Amino acid sequence: MCFYEDRIKSSNSRKELSLEEIEQISLKMPPFNWLQISGGEPFLRSDLDKICGCFINNSRAKIISIPTNGYYVDKICDLTRRMVTSYPKIFFTIGISIYGPKNLHDKITGIPGSFDKAISAYWKLKELAKRHSNLGLNFGICQNKQNEDSLNELFSYLMTECSPDHISLLFARGIDVKHKFTGTSYQKYKENWDYLLTHVLKRDKYYYLLPFKSILYSVNMLQKDITYEVAYNEKFVLPCYAARISGVIDENGDVFSCEMRKAKLGSLRDSEYDFRNIWKGEVAKRERTQIRKSKCYCTHECFITSNIVFNPLMYYRLFKKWLIYNHNFDAGKR
Ligand code: SF4
Repeated sequence: MCFYEDRIKSSNSRKELSLEEIEQISLKMPPFNWLQISGGEPFLRSDLDKICGCFINNSRAKIISIPTNGYYVDKICDLTRRMVTSYPKIFFTIGISIYGPKNLHDKITGIPGSFDKAISAYWKLKELAKRHSNLGLNFGICQNKQNEDSLNELFSYLMTECSPDHISLLFARGIDVKHKFTGTSYQKYKENWDYLLTHVLKRDKYYYLLPFKSILYSVNMLQKDITYEVAYNEKFVLPCYAARISGVIDENGDVFSCEMRKAKLGSLRDSEYDFRNIWKGEVAKRERTQIRKSKCYCTHECFITSNIVFNPLMYYRLFKKWLIYNHNFDAGKR
């Protein structure tokens, strides 16, 4: 749950990139490993499987993550089935967004029955995952002002009833005009993360299946600490590599360093659909300098994770987390 109301209001589905335009972009994109598609609701695009295919075939993407609200159960399952069967060597992770126990979830989404639909989508996808080992399922939970006290209950329900491969916890960010969601407690965030790391993620399938699981777990621990430090102190903690190693392309083909910064680095439509023209351009260079000099900071977990992994100055703290992992975590038992 991110709140970028100005972007949501100004979005226009008729201006969205067509599949042909996306293919052009993928053909000129330098190779990369991880594609994260976000929304809105990505599964509204009936050509989502073909969009993924463009980046798999042309840009060599190996891991594709897609969040969903889980509402369009049949469409989600049909498109996912097409993706995992067409590309058996690519690992897909589908993250279903859940905002709280049933009644609270429905209240937050404003749609009665939306919790049941999301859980139903999960079970249908779980059946698919039994036949396709390249499909991982997780729940994405965004802590916000309304659900911050209910998350332990939700974690317990999801682990005992659903047993997903992974649960991720995010801190509500961005701007929501009525401040109904943002302004959530950073202390609660820390407590919820500690609960998740101690009770849930130890049994996490991702950490058992993926290589370097101890490092992944350690990165998660450190990411939680840094998000907390930023939220608590409201200040810069580590340099951000947005516009260097990560960037955002919106539905119209406009390129940004991240979702929060307003400066547009360029339009793919105006740049012959060649991402490199924008990434190497003067605007992007200025933006990088600006991010570095202003010591830009935020609690965006994806960027914080990259900022840890690609910053050697973080490796000592990472090493300490790794020692804690090895001391506490008996990796041989589930
Ligand atoms: S610190 Fe946050 S807002 Fe600033 S550039 Fe990085 S991701 Fe964007």
